[in-house]
Amino acid sequence: MAIVSLLLLFVFVYMIIPYVITRIWGLGVTMRGRRGRQIAFTFDDGPDPLHTPKLLDLLKKKRIKATFFVLGGKAERHPELMRRIHREGHQIGIHNYSHLPNWLMSPRHIRNKHVRRSADIIERITGERPTFYRPPWGILNLGDLFALRKYRIVLWSVMGWDWGKKSRNKPLKERILDQLEPGSIILLHDSGDTWGAEPDAPGRMIASLEEVLDTVHIQGYKCVRADELLHKRDGLSNEFSEGFRVG
Ligand SMILES: [Zn+2]
Repeated sequence: MAIVSLLLLFVFVYMIIPYVITRIWGLGVTMRGRRGRQIAFTFDDGPDPLHTPKLLDLLKKKRIKATFFVLGGKAERHPELMRRIHREGHQIGIHNYSHLPNWLMSPRHIRNKHVRRSADIIERITGERPTFYRPPWGILNLGDLFALRKYRIVLWSVMGWDWGKKSRNKPLKERILDQLEPGSIILLHDSGDTWGAEPDAPGRMIASLEEVLDTVHIQGYKCVRADELLHKRDGLSNEFSEGFRVG
């Protein structure tokens, strides 16, 4: 009985409380920006040798800068792709060393073996140390909010639903435009080998993305990196001032 109570307490403190704090109240994390008609496209789970180059080609053609939340392990295996992402002006953020949920690990382990380790790898390859972090599936434990306080934790406001079977039901354009508003941070994936994803899903996403980019352009949106959307690049950003600045 005591074990069951302890387990329930653990689930409540470690999983449910941080879920409510971050995903429902939005505290300690960033889910959107507030700047005019700017939006930010973000791509998780790469770099992927098959899909990422095609995505980079499209972004180059459309002259759009985006943000890639990469896995440290894949960055290590594909340094040339990392250099290309960086060289072409995109932002690189961290998405753990491997795609493991933070609920199964201690905050210390996550900070040292996933976030710092990935930051070291990315810095070694690109010369620039990432400061933005997005946990796999957006899952945080309570200790992460303290252990990772030096990093800006960025989630999303628009879910592209591009990774699995659901992505076949409704065109990507509709899925994104239905939810889009100024300051949106859009979540998509440039790798299909994560648990629960379909291997060819990124191919479908990239094939549909051009139309999405053309449409948001016509609607007057400017696509920027997440750090630009959140003002970090011009040195004005911090967690609290952002809320007071509109337009
Ligand atoms: Zn992911």
